[in-house]
Amino acid sequence: MPELPHEAKRRSPTMPRRSLLQAGAVGIGALTAASAMPAVASASVARAPTGQQTSRRADRCRTRLVLLGTAAGPSPRMGRLGMASALVVGDRAYLVDAGRGMVDQVARAEIPFGSISDVLVTHLHSDHVAELFNLFLLTWGNENPNRSTISRPVGVWGPGPAGALPPARDGRPAVTVEPQTPGLVEYFERSLQANAYDVNVRVRDTGRPDIRSVYQLHELALPAGAGPGHDDLAPEMQPFLVFEDDRVRVHATLVHHPPMFPCYAFRFDTEDGSVVFSGDTTASSNLVRLARAADVLVHEVIETSYYEAQNWPPGRLAHLRESFTDVSEVGAVAAAADVRTLVLSHLAPGDPEAVPDSTWHRKASQGFDGQVIVGHDLLQIGVGAPG
Ligand SMILES: [Zn+2]
Ligand SMILES: [Zn+2]
Repeated sequence: MPELPHEAKRRSPTMPRRSLLQAGAVGIGALTAASAMPAVASASVARAPTGQQTSRRADRCRTRLVLLGTAAGPSPRMGRLGMASALVVGDRAYLVDAGRGMVDQVARAEIPFGSISDVLVTHLHSDHVAELFNLFLLTWGNENPNRSTISRPVGVWGPGPAGALPPARDGRPAVTVEPQTPGLVEYFERSLQANAYDVNVRVRDTGRPDIRSVYQLHELALPAGAGPGHDDLAPEMQPFLVFEDDRVRVHATLVHHPPMFPCYAFRFDTEDGSVVFSGDTTASSNLVRLARAADVLVHEVIETSYYEAQNWPPGRLAHLRESFTDVSEVGAVAAAADVRTLVLSHLAPGDPEAVPDSTWHRKASQGFDGQVIVGHDLLQIGVGAPG
């Protein structure tokens, strides 16, 4: 694919939400065969400047995965920041999720804010969106383009409104705020309202453009029969196209992370290889379908036995088992999808002192003979051959 400046990148024509889903209802096998993209690549590993792992040329790869934050859950903890990743393809960056600390991590990873093309949001749990509006609030402007500011429209893709809250436990009332289940559009509108004074002062004081000019929101269409009131939050489905430009083709599927809905996994296909992000999910056949023969699968994991040893109450342990993938099960997912490299991220517990890397690695390798990488903040993984 030719290198084009950011402004010249091509997008799929805007389609109505429903047709977006239908148009993308193709199997990944068909997609890969038709795309003529070589299924390249070994993953090489390097730490960004503040990291500690020995460089193995990831920074020389045109396409590289950067783990910005690798912890599960919203609470601050030692050793890992909130869930966020970047796929850098040449001089362009695509972000997946925006957890606690993400904006600073983009700077630490030396990813120019002006290079951010799109942000994909797997779901609206706070550990994935705590810094979503902050990304724009803290960087939007018209000075020093490309380095520390976002001055051109960034596509933001992710959930629309859930439509209904989960059933109440113990008759517990919901917070009486309307709307109770906002999607991406309402999330941004309400965030803008809350910050209107700051935004307006900066527009008048420094001549900045309307902040709404630096993001374009896209709520993803849903398949019929999914969601609250239906039997299944993630019914069996084919991956669907989210968007494509001259660097990447992005597909999504629904994954199972009750009681949240909708929850997405995303797949990026590039000329250098393919990278899949699981989002939060139990072991998922939809994800296996999406990740088929990918070069890199970034998958969330939980070490359930850690919480059992901490004597967590049975109800909370049941929630963990019903909503996440135990690390002893993730190798089978990677093997079923036939991926080359499995990267563990969104680790629970997130404190590196709580579970040693050797344990994560050993348990994740069960049933999978590919490469397993235990994720840490600012770890970089090259996709394809170094340049
Ligand atoms: Zn999460
Ligand atoms: Zn979640």
